[in-house]
Amino acid sequence: MSQLLDKLREANALPSPPGVALEIIRLNQRDDIDIDELAEVVTRDPAIVAKLLRMANSSAFGRPGQVSDIRQAVMTLGLRSVNLLALSFSLASYDQGESNDRFDYSHYWTSSGVMTTSSHILARTHLPQFADEAFLSSILCDFGQLILAEVVADKYRRVLKKVAKSDQPLHEIEDELLGSNHAELGGELLEEWGLPPLICGAIKLHHDPESDESADPDAKSLARILHISSRVADLYTGGELFSGLDALKAAAKDAFGMETSDCQALLEATENEMGEIVELLGLQCSDPAQIADIRMRATEHLVKQSLALNEQMVAVSADSAELKKRNTDLEARATTDSLTGLRNRGYFDEWIESESERAQQNAAPLGLLLLDVDHFKSVNDDHGHQAGDEMLRAVSRAVVNTARESDIVCRYGGEEIAVICPDTDADTLTRLAEAMRGAVGAVEITSDGASIQRTVSIGGYAHAPGAGSHTCQQMIELADAELYRAKSEGRNRVFVKTS
Ligand code: GH3
Ligand code: MG
Ligand code: MG
Repeated sequence: MSQLLDKLREANALPSPPGVALEIIRLNQRDDIDIDELAEVVTRDPAIVAKLLRMANSSAFGRPGQVSDIRQAVMTLGLRSVNLLALSFSLASYDQGESNDRFDYSHYWTSSGVMTTSSHILARTHLPQFADEAFLSSILCDFGQLILAEVVADKYRRVLKKVAKSDQPLHEIEDELLGSNHAELGGELLEEWGLPPLICGAIKLHHDPESDESADPDAKSLARILHISSRVADLYTGGELFSGLDALKAAAKDAFGMETSDCQALLEATENEMGEIVELLGLQCSDPAQIADIRMRATEHLVKQSLALNEQMVAVSADSAELKKRNTDLEARATTDSLTGLRNRGYFDEWIESESERAQQNAAPLGLLLLDVDHFKSVNDDHGHQAGDEMLRAVSRAVVNTARESDIVCRYGGEEIAVICPDTDADTLTRLAEAMRGAVGAVEITSDGASIQRTVSIGGYAHAPGAGSHTCQQMIELADAELYRAKSEGRNRVFVKTS
């Protein structure tokens, strides 16, 4: 037991669990807990009930359905899960304070949102039997920081100042200046609160999962997940990119033998799934565009590293044909979106620049289309993420098949596609967009016997030669404004602006 915890206890400075969490924890300490009792406690907090029902119906947990009360939620998710999730929601609402000069709460909750998403994804593959524990423990993983920022505020500010100036990790500086660290303190406090030992054990170990040989193997596996997720969170909350990626790759390799491409996939899935989890938990997180940007630069860097490594191998290898092919594949991967096979956002950004320069030089017209699938979120919500992915692939195929040889079709973001159309005037661009709208509307996929169809809204901008120069950013904004108009006027329609 750390002295710090003792001292805080003596000073009567320790907080107790918020809201109904305390009662849920108490219930958990008994073996004979039943649905009615749990339902009775949980319904005292309507916000938690609402979140639980959303969760039971959500695609993030892969069990979309029609759950309308706590009893049904228990049937769908299981008693243990409802229990842990109710706790998660109750504890995630723990004082989301305003950021001040002492503690950056927005950074804290963003990091918590990233960690929870990434742990949820990792647990699907590496610890499915404890998926709910992974969820709860990643929400609580850095809870010790909140406590320290609250109860030893001035000392903790000194810790954070030192962290900002040094390369040393936070927990080491905490050890140095406070005699304990947030992982240890958080784990011990949660233990006192009566949270399950698996969760507390994993939290204590999460900075160095291999440090305790005698630790429970499940707690160790969970700690490994938390460790990798905290590397993802460091990256996504503005940590140094190159060293952060190296740290992530090393942690993922050590823990589960994950390769560079697995890390890329983890970063991508975290970016895609984070919105839903953050919304469920009601976390106050910073801008998703920032995360998209970091993910893009991370992918580029990882691919470049793999390329450089292969090039070194080509230089020493007699059998270089195979390696050259791998390099070509890697180069293609750097510009390709892995889900849809379309060109990715980085490729779009480069090509819109070069195509608009070319159009300017040759006094040629240039068209740009932005497509956004209508009511796409409900595909995920009603039929699960996999059906959503399948739909995105099918929509992408329909757009590619309708596009002409010279058009450049890219995944612009989640369910948005951008098409660069060189040498295309306004009339041709409008006809092309109408053809794409028709093709997407005709797409039909099935999931568990249900047929799924969606329409698409399209905004376009056709730049005429001699119409004055527009930056790429302006072109995108003009097309986006038309897309917005298509959405607000009822969706499933095309608007094209010309200059
Ligand atoms: P609107 O008609 O206004 O465009 O409604 P919408 O539901 O399409 O728009 P919204 O932006 O609210 O939702 C987009 C959803 O797309 C949310 C996100 O979960 C989902 N999404 C984004 N990327 C992916 C992905 O790669 N796979 C899956 N399955 N879903 C994704
Ligand atoms: Mg949409
Ligand atoms: Mg959208």
